[in-house]
Parts: sequence; C-alpha cells; structure tokens
Amino acid sequence: MAEDVLQMPLQFLKGVGPRKAADLKKAGLNTVEDLLFRFPRRYEDRSRMQAIISLRPGMTAAISGTVLNAGLAPTRRPGFKLFSALVQDDSGQILAVWPNQAFLKDVIKSQQRIVLFGKVEIWGSRGLQITDPEFEIVKDQGSAIGDQGSGGEDQGDAQLHTGRIVPVYERTGSVTTNMQRRFVWQALNQVADDGFDPVPDDILKRERWPNRKTALWQSHFPSADTAVDDLNAFATLAQRRIVFEDFFVFQTGLALRRHENAQVRKGLVSKVDDRIRQCARAVLPFKLTEGQRDALAEIVADMQRAWPMQRLLQGDVGAGKTIVALLAAIVAMENGYQVAFMAPTEILAEQHYRTIVKALDGKPYRVALLTGRVTAATRRDLLPAIERGDINLIVGTQALIQQHVNFKSLALAVIDEQHRFGVVQRGTLAAKGANPDVLVMTATPIPRTLALTECGDMEVSVIRGLPPGRQPIKTMIKADARRDEVYAMMRDEVRRGRQVYVIYPLVEDSEKIDLKAATAMSEQITRIFPEFTVALLHGRMKGDEKEAVMHRFTRGELHILVSTTVVEVGVDVPNATLMVIEHAERFGLSQLHQLRGRIGRGQHASTCVLLYQAPWTDDARARLKAMVETSDGFVIAEKDLQLRGPGDFFGTRQSGLPTLRAGDLNRDADLLERAYEEARARVEAGTLTTAQQDYVRSVWQRQFGLITVG
Ligand code: ADP
Ligand code: MG
Repeated sequence: MAEDVLQMPLQFLKGVGPRKAADLKKAGLNTVEDLLFRFPRRYEDRSRMQAIISLRPGMTAAISGTVLNAGLAPTRRPGFKLFSALVQDDSGQILAVWPNQAFLKDVIKSQQRIVLFGKVEIWGSRGLQITDPEFEIVKDQGSAIGDQGSGGEDQGDAQLHTGRIVPVYERTGSVTTNMQRRFVWQALNQVADDGFDPVPDDILKRERWPNRKTALWQSHFPSADTAVDDLNAFATLAQRRIVFEDFFVFQTGLALRRHENAQVRKGLVSKVDDRIRQCARAVLPFKLTEGQRDALAEIVADMQRAWPMQRLLQGDVGAGKTIVALLAAIVAMENGYQVAFMAPTEILAEQHYRTIVKALDGKPYRVALLTGRVTAATRRDLLPAIERGDINLIVGTQALIQQHVNFKSLALAVIDEQHRFGVVQRGTLAAKGANPDVLVMTATPIPRTLALTECGDMEVSVIRGLPPGRQPIKTMIKADARRDEVYAMMRDEVRRGRQVYVIYPLVEDSEKIDLKAATAMSEQITRIFPEFTVALLHGRMKGDEKEAVMHRFTRGELHILVSTTVVEVGVDVPNATLMVIEHAERFGLSQLHQLRGRIGRGQHASTCVLLYQAPWTDDARARLKAMVETSDGFVIAEKDLQLRGPGDFFGTRQSGLPTLRAGDLNRDADLLERAYEEARARVEAGTLTTAQQDYVRSVWQRQFGLITVG
C-alpha cells in the first residue's frame, strides 16, 4: 500500500500548501482518503443553464453569460459596499449583486465569461437581480475567490464547477468549496481503479454496491442522471456504500478490540457459591426487579469467566443500578478481592459512600472514601492500606485513577455515570489491576446508535422500567411571566412538608454571569419566602460547604435548595417533590431528564416545572414538549440525539466520542446496525483478510490516536 495515493498526506495534492494543509488538518483531514471521505454538504444541479429571459422571482437558477460591466455601487449606508455585475446571455440581461464583498472588484471584470448560481429576486421596479450568487469565471486558469497561486488545473474549471451536478463543500478555513472541489477532482483522478477495498466482496455483491473508487466518484461528482434529491438525502447507492464503509471500519476496530480483550486472562476470577449468594441476599433491603436480576446475572456470569468483563449497565434514572453494582461488589469481596467504585463528582462519590456504608452496616467489609478532598494525613494512611489489601471497597472520584493508587487485588472497577468519563479514562483504571472486570453505568440511557459507537467494544445490559411503587412525575411548561404561580406552588409544597429544588443553568462560557444569576435568584427566593429556609449550592463552593448544604437538604433542614446542575448526578432526596427548572430552554433534553430524576423518588406525588424565557427556539420548544410527553429515558435519549446530533449528545467533547467521517448516526442508523453485525460476525469467524485488519488498525491509529486496537 506504500504507493497508495489515498494514504498520502494532503500536501501531496497540487495547490495544497502548508497553510491549507494546516487548515484541513484542523478539520481532521490529514490524508487524501480523509478528504475523499468528507462528503459535500449538499449538491446543486448546475447541469442545465437557464436562459435569463426565463427567470422568475424565487427561482434558484444557474445561468451562463458575459459580464457587461462590473464595479462597486455607491450605497446610502455608510461602510456598506455593494459589488454588482451586469451579465448578459443570448436571451437577456440580469444584475448580479454581492453585498459587502468589495474584493470582488479584483476578481470579476468586464468581458469575462461567467457562470452564476443563486436566487433570483425582484429588483425594485427595474427587473430581476440575482443576489449573492456563487460564481465561476469560465477560463482555463484557476479563478475562484482568493485562490491565486494554486495553479490552474488542466481540465479547466467549467466541467468541475458548472454544467453538472456540483458538490458543495463546507468551507474549511482558507479552503473554499471551489478549491476543495478541485482537490477532490485531482485526487480522484489519481486513485487506482482496482485499489484495496475494506468492504468485503460478498457484501458489495449482495448490496449491489459499487467498488470503492466508483463510489467515491459518484459521491463527489455524480453522473448527470442521478436524482439530486437522493444525493441530498445521502441515499444513493454510492453514498450509502461509503457510509457503510465508514461504520464498518470503525465497528471492525471495536470488534477486534473486544475479540482481543477476550484473549486476555484476568488475574482474579471470582467464583459464586451458595455461601456468597447468601451474603449478597443479606444486604438486600428489597426485592430486585426482574430487570435488575437479569442484569446482575449477566454481570456475575462475566465475573466468573477467565477474561475481563467490559460491560455497560444501562438504565433510566432511578432504575436502581447502584444496588446491582453493589451486589456484584460483594461477590468480588467475598472472593477476597478489592473493588473500586468511581463517581464523576465528589458529591456523588460521597453519597455512594454513605449508601454503601449503610447497606453494608454490620458486615465485615472495610470501605473507604478517596476523593480529591481527603486530607494528606488520611491519604497517607489510606494508600498503603489499599496497597496491603486492608481496604475491600474504595469509593471515590477520578482522583482514584489520577493519583498514585495501587491495589493489592483489584478485581472489579465500577464506573458510575459514564457520560463524564471518556474511553481513555476507562483504560487507565483498567491498568490499575491485573485486568479487572469493568462495569460502566450510564447516568441516563444512551441511544442505541450511540452506544454502538461509543461503547461497541463492551457488552450491554439494560434495566428496563423502574422499581415498583414510583409515582409518575407531572411535568409542566410555564412562561417566565407566570412565575407567581410557580411561587404559589412552591409555598403549598413546603407547607405540606415537602422540599423544593430550584435549578439554575450554568453554562461553561459564562459561568461567572450565571453564578451571579443563581446567587441573585437564591436571594430573591429568600426574600419571597422569609418563613422558609433557603440555601444555594454551586460547583464553585468548597467541598465541605457543598457537603454541609447537601446534608442539610438531605436531613430535611432546608425547604428550598437553589442549585446549579451539580445536583444533576444521582442525588437522592425522596422528600423533594417539586423541581423548578429556570431557563429550561437552555438545557439539553437528556440533562433535563436527568435533573427531573431527582424528584419522584418517594411515596409522594412530584411535579417538575419547566420555566422558559421567550424567545425560545423551535428546538427548545421541541425539547420541553418531549419532557412533558414522556418520562421514558430511552425515548428521551433517542429524541435528544435527533435534535442535537451525536457530537453534542454528551454535552462536551471529552466523552471521547470518535468522529465518524461520512456516517451520521441519525440518518444512517440502519447502516450502522448492519456494519455492527457484519463486523462482529467476521471478526469472530476470523474471515477478514490480513489487509483488511491492517487497514482497520491504521485508520484507528490515525483517527483515534490514543486508543489502540490489538
Ligand atoms: P440509578 O439507577 O439512577 O443509579 P439508584 O441506584 O440510585 O438509581 O436507585 C434509585 C432508588 O431506588 C434508590 O433509593 C434505591 O434504593 C431504590 N431501589 C433500587 N432498586 C429497588 C427495588 N428493586 N425496589 C425498591 N427500591 C429500589
Ligand atoms: Mg445512580
């Protein structure tokens, strides 16, 4: 593959100098292959030029003509410049205008042949104009905007940019759509016809998909008879083949990882007998639901295997994942091994610690808490105790993995609230023991397509439904103007002996401003309810301050807790029955669901009020509406993915979610599912060629750097 054009760095292409290469690199495009796997944003049919005389207002049209005159027109608005050109074809004339692009005076000149593509509008009383059109100057020299020095291509631009179905790319730094079109064209002309294809032959045959080169050609420069609507829906055979390849390569990487993981022997294999079952039963305060029982059975079966468990435990907020993990922990501890239990925040780690200590009261297990806030002295005692194996169960935050913790016999690592951790952090923890079993728990359900990409190397257990006896939560949307009604509800609720959350958004970019707003809100509420106890909780508070506030709320000493989203994760106060979410329009759907999960935890009916401030976007409206319509976290997760797209689903990029090149998790869910099945089956059956496996490894190396396959 040494000669393979596809694997060449982009500077290999004529016209891509260091500056453009750097811009492309920033967008994740390093090799020629990366460029070819970047689909156009859309396609335009410029194959048929329209006669100027036939143009009507509202049309989007391609025309071809000669520039009669061109120049900057004076405007009345100071600082506003309008460049215009009068263009003529055999049938008539039309004015083309470009607002605020004065530099065009050096690009578009009288007597040039030009092709325009854009929207036709009425121009005063004098006729029609075409506003801010895309244009090509028809010459054989490179001619597009700001493209001097890239050198003209021999083919001439006309057949690339006009007179055909034209791909429109997203601009990448200094690389315009026209340049990209030219680069793609140039690259495709050099790709070997019968080059390596990562998609197995039998799949191509079965699906009637074109080979790789043909598919790339047709995805970028479709033949004239292709339906533009199909292209724009990314539904042509050629496009779907490329998308499939993208998914297939990625899924093969995951499958190889999973397969190789199953070759690893773990040092500490747990056994289960009646005595251990009895110990587990002894800590159970209630009967497990069927979903919990099934999940536990899967986990414990994994723990008894010779290779390390990699399992994702999915369940809605409140589904009862903690107890399942704790029972698994007891199995490991009864085998004489250690367990690490990680949470994403200190509040949550501390809460888990308290829950666990309470549940294990009177049992012989030694449990310790290790967070960033543990004093140096405590840590000095704790670390050697962990290393000696004197501590059986360590609960903590990321500090657990970031600091120098050594275990004597770590058999099981439980990672709660997966959203906050990346694949990389998971790996670091695993390295702490002799390949311990890893159980990852999600905060809220992850849509299946996302789970397949983010966690496709893991097995998945799903707890459907909630423990019995939960009251459904009533959710309502209210405009901020009706805040008084909400205050009345709060008063009623507290008088009935219940507690109230008021949640304030905290957006990272404007953290200071938001913090001020949250503080002001807490003061306002204190003023409005002088008879109640109100406190504020936010992430900037010191750990013990936070804990003190949380404690008071848990013990029922606070009536109203005004908080930023630090209460989001797993906090459990059953007497809190009303949640008011301020600026609900600013939150993501999964986050709203996660917040709402803080109420409805006791025997009393609960209400969630979503306060919004107009104007809100259509998306915001759709989000809040979805909250009212359903409380099923799995449904909400799917909806959230649709609304936000995969990149934003986890809120931040730190989740380690890989970026796919051509595939889209919403649009192409069916192909992802097939790629997943095919990749797993082929890796398990060992039917992939060495070349195919090598290719997958090299792509993984390049795309995902840190993560190694095999
Ligand atoms: P999550 O899945 O969101 O982490 P938790 O583990 O915090 O949920 O459980 C939520 C609440 O439900 C806890 O108070 C827990 O004690 C309770 N719970 C869990 N399982 C059951 C069950 N089978 N029956 C009754 N209550 C349960
Ligand atoms: Mg939880």
